[in-house]
Amino acid sequence: MSALPDPGRALVVGLAKSGRAAAVLLRDLGWQVVAVDSSAVDAADLQSAGIEVRAPSDDPVPADLVVRSPGVPREFPPLAAAYAAGTPVWSEIELASRATSNPIMGITGTNGKTTTTELLAHVLREGGLDAVACGNVGTPMASLVGEVSGNTWLVVECSSFQLEDVPTFRPHAAVLLNVTPDHMDRYPDFDAYRRAKLNLFAHQGEHDLAILPEGLDATGAAPTRRLAASGAPGPDAVSWAEGGLHVQGLGLVAPWSDIPLLGAHNRENVMATAAMAAHAGLGAEEIARGLATFPGVPHRLEVVGEADGVTFVNDSKATNPAAAIAALDAYPQRVRLIAGGSSKGTPFDDLARAAAGPVLRAYLIGETAPAIAAAMEGEHVEYALEPDLPTAVSRAAADAQPGDVVLLAPACASFDQFTGYEHRGEVFREAAREAGAR
Ligand code: ADP
Repeated sequence: MSALPDPGRALVVGLAKSGRAAAVLLRDLGWQVVAVDSSAVDAADLQSAGIEVRAPSDDPVPADLVVRSPGVPREFPPLAAAYAAGTPVWSEIELASRATSNPIMGITGTNGKTTTTELLAHVLREGGLDAVACGNVGTPMASLVGEVSGNTWLVVECSSFQLEDVPTFRPHAAVLLNVTPDHMDRYPDFDAYRRAKLNLFAHQGEHDLAILPEGLDATGAAPTRRLAASGAPGPDAVSWAEGGLHVQGLGLVAPWSDIPLLGAHNRENVMATAAMAAHAGLGAEEIARGLATFPGVPHRLEVVGEADGVTFVNDSKATNPAAAIAALDAYPQRVRLIAGGSSKGTPFDDLARAAAGPVLRAYLIGETAPAIAAAMEGEHVEYALEPDLPTAVSRAAADAQPGDVVLLAPACASFDQFTGYEHRGEVFREAAREAGAR
């Protein structure tokens, strides 16, 4: 835990969940807080707590410290002015980590963050430790400061945006699950996105646990450890998949058949979870129990029902091509794939290649439908352009034979037609019910 400066005047930029939590925490710590947002927001609660709210506003505000919400781009004038003036700018997780001495675990990656975060918090709790999932999963880390017992593990899901402006943030155990192109509308290039992810490890000590994918090394003092998802484990492997789930120092934790999460990608999530739980002190049996009892996370390969032998699977959270490819890996045959949505500037060639085996027909919706159609055509995958998600579901259901899987794995964001991926997942669920899924 690094020190907090003496209270002065703080500016909070962005008033979504984490900005609000940061503003309240700073106020509790004795700071005079001004909060700005580019849009009008309902901030009566903040105002009555003594926080000055300027929204909508994009005027710079002089301050001793600036805390930014992850959603706010660096170019937003109050933020740009702070960088230019040399004012310290912190991510909300940096602020929270300075204000607490609770042990921290950090999870990042292009895909698998929420699953791994929820799974790890569940496994730690099943093993008898106190643990809370927070960060990008929904509960801001700042809102937990002082609200949980001092030995509670804070399992923090970190987006790349939250990992910008983290000058001291130090998780005791951290994993970067994977990095593939995403959010290319927010970063100048792939390397900038990857660099943000690597900040997770920058301040770790030599006894901390740092897990990274092949080809990337930890940027702090912790040695780089690997997940060996296939083949024999190398000397730096902390967990491996051959012959069951193994964790270094614990041996065999469980056969894969005892772990309900499906798909090769989930094996990585499970391996990372097991290694981090072992780092927190849990034994093999405790970890195995937690893995076996995990209920899963809605909108991630969630089976919503079956109708006449056809299974309907909601993977609305597959908001980029790599996630949709992972879903196809979990369902390797007879898939009727529903994909498309709003564009994040990613190409779809890999998705089309992955679809070429398992996908009987792709039902394409939204802004990116033509781009995905072009990629599918290149790989000779049958496709149809559909006006909206309910129509796509009913057409896919009408085409399906017993044994087929109707899979929503859009490979895109949802904002062209929905308020978010949860909304999209609910519309899918409703349409599947209409088609008879129970
Ligand atoms: P995130 O929080 O990083 O978006 P989630 O756990 O919500 O990750 O999963 C998002 C999507 O990514 C899911 O739909 C799932 O199919 C896919 N996914 C999950 N874990 C992985 C992984 N380790 N590698 C690739 N894709 C994954």
